[in-house]
Amino acid sequence: MVLVLDKSGLPEPDAPAGAAAKRSLAGLDRVRLATALAEVGVPAKQIRMRVNQLWSWLYVRGVTSFDMMTDVSKDLRARLEARYTLDRLEIVTEQISIDGTRKWLLRLPKRGHEARAPEIETVYIPEAERGTLCISSQVGCTLTCSFCHTGTQRLVRNLEAEEIVAQVMLARDRIGDWPGAAIPGDDRLLPVGDRKITNVVLMGMGEPLYNFDNVRTAMDVVSDGEGLSLSKRRITLSTSGVVPEIGRWGEESGTMLAISLHATRDALRDELVPINKKYPIKALIEACRNYPGVSNARRITFEYVMLKGVNDSLADARALVKLLSGVPSKINLIPFNPWPGTKYECSDWETIERFAEVVNKAGYASPVRTPRGRDILAACGQLKSESTKLRASERERGVFASSGPSEE
Ligand code: SAH
Ligand code: SF4
Repeated sequence: MVLVLDKSGLPEPDAPAGAAAKRSLAGLDRVRLATALAEVGVPAKQIRMRVNQLWSWLYVRGVTSFDMMTDVSKDLRARLEARYTLDRLEIVTEQISIDGTRKWLLRLPKRGHEARAPEIETVYIPEAERGTLCISSQVGCTLTCSFCHTGTQRLVRNLEAEEIVAQVMLARDRIGDWPGAAIPGDDRLLPVGDRKITNVVLMGMGEPLYNFDNVRTAMDVVSDGEGLSLSKRRITLSTSGVVPEIGRWGEESGTMLAISLHATRDALRDELVPINKKYPIKALIEACRNYPGVSNARRITFEYVMLKGVNDSLADARALVKLLSGVPSKINLIPFNPWPGTKYECSDWETIERFAEVVNKAGYASPVRTPRGRDILAACGQLKSESTKLRASERERGVFASSGPSEE
């Protein structure tokens, strides 16, 4: 069951059509906020203090209007308002799965040379003990993993740091996850206990290590203790295996790491995760062993997608356990999420269970990841922003409020 909301239930972007687009301050780091303040004439000696004020309004309170910044003078608020907005990314659709998973299709500001505004997806997965936000780092992906839907989409561009942070802010807006937040008249909020975003995973669209600097800046903003305050231990970057950047990522950012392994032999991994031809398994495992800060308390997660008849034999399971011996690791078996046109199928449930048993016996606890949000194509590897096409035709027909049976 899927609920697709059209924009009538969502905040309208501020800028009227045709108006010169104002830049948003939402998601900026301290350096860029300082520049923005200087541009509206804040004297150099006041900048640091003003940045701190804005920082707190933006990232602790999550305000959406300059008027709410009560300790900023009216005059400065007006100058800021004249030049900037606090807009998040524009929401094209918001879908809510039967299991509470939410997926947003978001539109990025169009740049001069772009024929149309690029779109990305962000997914929120509420669970009993935590809420995980899965964010995108690129529009599409330059890599072409054969089982991944995103890999079929041409890369349009890297996300800016602020566009990465804005995904977290927008999700907090929509699930009412700012301190004391409530959206008046909005009955779509999750129950209070389910609302918090406790974890962020860079497992949406794109290869985050190919957008290294922007992702690092964004994670610094997201983890800043005076702002969004999400601990680096609750942020996980997933990579397909960009070996030369793995150690640098650990040193410079210090988040948790996940590796999209999916095969234990180079011949097969070359086919599933083609970057393996450049950086084969041995080099990848070596980079993991040397990941800064890795220990039994800070293990690396190895993701392994279960593909029927491809990588799911018991011999594969044993090879997996052997390959990872001596690396402080967790294993995450991901049931393959099918998408239109894929040649792969998900392994049978018994096969997954038998595979998991081998992994369990080797000392890895609950390795199978429950697929979430499958009904809204929000599960791993199903993200692809071309859903806009469907939407446009729906809009023409005037059908938008819901697709599929209603939730009651
Ligand atoms: N590009 C990064 C992060 C995004 S993909 C990476 O590859 O790690 C996030 C995870 O979803 C990866 O482990 C990826 O291999 C997995 N994945 C991709 N397509 C999938 C699919 N159709 N079913 C299940 N998992 C998939
Ligand atoms: Fe890109 Fe990751 Fe998909 Fe591979 S699995 S195509 S790296 S998003």
